[in-house]
Amino acid sequence: MVTAYVALGANLGDAAAALRQAIESLQGLPSTVLGRRSALYKTAPLDSDCADKPRAPGDDYINAVVQLETALSAPALLVQLQQIEQQAGRQRPYRNAPRTLDLDLLLYGSASIASEQLSVPHPRMWQRAFVLVPLAEIAPDLVSPAQLQAVADQAIERLA
Ligand code: ADP
Ligand code: MG
Repeated sequence: MVTAYVALGANLGDAAAALRQAIESLQGLPSTVLGRRSALYKTAPLDSDCADKPRAPGDDYINAVVQLETALSAPALLVQLQQIEQQAGRQRPYRNAPRTLDLDLLLYGSASIASEQLSVPHPRMWQRAFVLVPLAEIAPDLVSPAQLQAVADQAIERLA
């Protein structure tokens, strides 16, 4: 079994419900046991191209990170994550609507993977408070104080 970490995000419709549903789907994955799960966090959509207008249009995001113990290979796990995204995507109200659910594989044991389909560790995770803060909640040894400090300017609210 390998310990993997998955980031969940949604900002369309009832995003918190989408995340809870997704966590239930992760719990049902073959050869996989759901481990620790973070609280839900709320973050404003950020426009990294627009420094004087930091808030991008759109609803707040709800984010979380969960730990999985899995016997699936990393590519097989990615396929499963994409299937769960698609299940949530079927509720999209119109064509090309913002996605209802994003599932990113952050870490897969200590593996380094750089294929066309899969980059692990997730290449942008260290720049994102909405990944690092929930990850630090459930796996404090994986995120250093300096790494948290580097994203401290990004507003993030822990939901009860
Ligand atoms: P993002 O999550 O970066 O906003 P998408 O979810 O649309 O963008 O990206 C999906 C693509 O990213 C998929 O085609 C998938 O193959 C690729 N990908 C590469 N590495 C990862 C990873 N660690 N987790 C999830 N998807 C990944
Ligand atoms: Mg993604």
